[in-house]
Amino acid sequence: MKRFFTTLILSAFVIIGSNAQNTEPASPARKCASPKVNPTYEEAFQGMLQRHEQFANIKKTLTVYNIPVIFHILHSGVAVNSTSATSGRNLNAAQIASQLTVLNQDFRKTNTNFSTTVTQSAFINAAADCEINFCMAKISPTGTILAEPGIDRISVSSKGWNALPYTMSYIESTVKPGSSWDPTKYLNIWILEFGGADVGTLGYAQFPTIPNGTTPVTDMVGWGGAANTDGVVFDYHYVGTTGTASYPYNKGRTATHEIGHWLGLWHINGDTNCGNDYCTDTPTQSSLTGGCPSTTGGTSASGCSASPNPPGKMYQNYMDYSDDRCMSMFTTGQKARMQAVMANCTRRLSLNTSTVCSVTNIDENVSDINFEVYPNPSKGEFFVNVDLLNQQDFTVTVINTLGQTVKEIRQVQSNGGAIKIDLSDKSEGVYFVTVKSKSVSKTKRIILQ
Ligand SMILES: [Zn+2]
Repeated sequence: MKRFFTTLILSAFVIIGSNAQNTEPASPARKCASPKVNPTYEEAFQGMLQRHEQFANIKKTLTVYNIPVIFHILHSGVAVNSTSATSGRNLNAAQIASQLTVLNQDFRKTNTNFSTTVTQSAFINAAADCEINFCMAKISPTGTILAEPGIDRISVSSKGWNALPYTMSYIESTVKPGSSWDPTKYLNIWILEFGGADVGTLGYAQFPTIPNGTTPVTDMVGWGGAANTDGVVFDYHYVGTTGTASYPYNKGRTATHEIGHWLGLWHINGDTNCGNDYCTDTPTQSSLTGGCPSTTGGTSASGCSASPNPPGKMYQNYMDYSDDRCMSMFTTGQKARMQAVMANCTRRLSLNTSTVCSVTNIDENVSDINFEVYPNPSKGEFFVNVDLLNQQDFTVTVINTLGQTVKEIRQVQSNGGAIKIDLSDKSEGVYFVTVKSKSVSKTKRIILQ
């Protein structure tokens, strides 16, 4: 008996020694706090899906949807990149850009780990290009041009908020309503640190509001419905692929997973033992996957009689709990749900026509028409001074950031000169002035303040 205990103690030391030599940094298990499968919600969702598919059968037009994104970076008053704060890091633009790149790769199936050896061969044909694109917002809600595309830096003390880290309860009641941008124009993403009751959470999302005839379904167990809480939240340790991104969640897949929820996807096991995620092309799974069963296309037993092994668990799916490097795909069934959301859910649909990403489409050097706009910025009245070589017809048009014409003045056989424009009845923000003749046009930007 004594000898047995000695062996046990020695074994324990060997195990401890072995762990100490492990160079992979420790990390919490994936913890997503998005709502779990809700049958009432799903019933409304299925109704929407059926209506959408009936319509899609009549008019088969595939659309790549575009979603403008704003990342609200919550920090503790420190400079960008400063490591002096542990709870309120102010992430740099390169890290945010790396996150947007991952989203566009994952939702368009151009992720580099898809076609290599990560995805099991049995699931390759189920994988879908979800035809959803993301762009960095370039214009703020007040019409100003963002200093850094897609980034809204918020020092929490300037808002009068508590010091970081935050609980979900505080985020829902205070942070989101105090910093949300119009969710019909922006996908709001908050980056912060979770603490208190929610320490260790990687992220969570608000599900889309489902149109159900004339009655929207908004009862998502406290985390759904309201416009000023719409969006996704994740911890600054799990953003993008550089900077503070922490192994094993350092490939930007926390955002891919949470935006999957935001577009109406459930966890792949239906949140119960061999449950239903309402996608026919995902296998049933006894549980969500921890870690990374294989990076070379190996199988992992599903634990469900309806889905024997192989192929077993689809641990490569973004809606599983696998490590980031193990994830590589959404399925065609998941795509159908997300496309239905983008086509039918009011706030999601309107994102596709939002123009807040489009400033760079204005080419200010397309022609040799010369004109000046002054004063700029303006308080409402300004002049467009057009310099023409010959007498000719031309038009001065002012459009807002939604592309709507707010003023148009035509000149016939004119020599140009200063034309007064009065926009004092218009809201503050960015406008675009275009001077167009028969053959050429040129656009300049003016700011009303
Ligand atoms: Zn989740």
